[in-house]
Amino acid sequence: MTEKKKALLLLSGGLDSTVALVMMKEHSIDVEAVHFTSLFCTCGGKGGGCGPASKVAESAGIKLHIVGKGEDYIEIVKKPAHGRGSNMNICIDCRIYAFRKAKELMEKIGASFIITGEVVDQRPMSQHKKTMLLIEKEAGLTDLVLRPLCALSMNETLPEKEGWVDRTKLKNISGRGRKEQMSFAADKGLKDFSCPAGGCLLTDPQFSRRIKDLMENKPEFDSKDVALLKYGRHFRLDKDAKLVVGRNKTENEVLEQFKIEKGFALWLEDFNGPFSLLTGINAKKYLELASGITARYGDVEDKEKKVKVRVKNCSTAEETVIEVMTAKDTYFQGTLL
Ligand code: SF4
Repeated sequence: MTEKKKALLLLSGGLDSTVALVMMKEHSIDVEAVHFTSLFCTCGGKGGGCGPASKVAESAGIKLHIVGKGEDYIEIVKKPAHGRGSNMNICIDCRIYAFRKAKELMEKIGASFIITGEVVDQRPMSQHKKTMLLIEKEAGLTDLVLRPLCALSMNETLPEKEGWVDRTKLKNISGRGRKEQMSFAADKGLKDFSCPAGGCLLTDPQFSRRIKDLMENKPEFDSKDVALLKYGRHFRLDKDAKLVVGRNKTENEVLEQFKIEKGFALWLEDFNGPFSLLTGINAKKYLELASGITARYGDVEDKEKKVKVRVKNCSTAEETVIEVMTAKDTYFQGTLL
């Protein structure tokens, strides 16, 4: 009888990785899972990892490891060796990064191979057969990545050669459709998985514009700068100075928590409105414009009269009130990212 082997599954919490998990459990593989979180996720995971991945792991009764993509990932976002997709996405380098981290974890937990829910030709940048093989090679995982959903389109891997899994029970799914996976999920009564594609801000055109702007104007940016890109309206005032204006109550609250070293926080003294952050070493020279823009997005009754704006210096915590006219859209439109 074949010895029961342990494998590490890359679990997004979506349909494909959930199907891969169930298939491997049916092969009597001892599965643990890893889920990657990053600043670029749009799934709303908070600290404890992505909800759907946790749910899937919990209902399957398997151990889930949460790994955050940290500053080392930001460095790859700045200079991806394999280029970008149609937006700022770095899918090939991103997969190599995840596979390398998974390899480390695989070795740590005594697993013998990696499982993914990848499907050949499902995604444009990173899921062509040639690219998938390149990714596993660069991660030092040649022969060790089993993709149960499309294994029959791929070369035989070590777990199949060794008889740890039965190749004849693996699938040959390809392309973007998810009919076969949906039907498998329905047969098995699976329902905890999340939306099929998940979300990554690097594929979002507006976020991509913002991160491109950051790269051009502050090439040494870090995760804190990236975090700020997720909230508010962003106005590039010059190479150094930028204004971020909250769009709603939640964003205002988030922006209030941001600690910036050089710059100002602004809000309306007498009306409801946005909380704004004006950042940059030369931010001071834009105080009037930034205050006017803040007023523009507030509930100011008479836009032809001066408005009081409270300004807090973020370095000294000193507060002052200035009076400005509400800025006209035509005056700052070109600065909106
Ligand atoms: S879409 Fe985003 S998370 Fe997914 S592989 Fe591409 S860069 Fe990575």
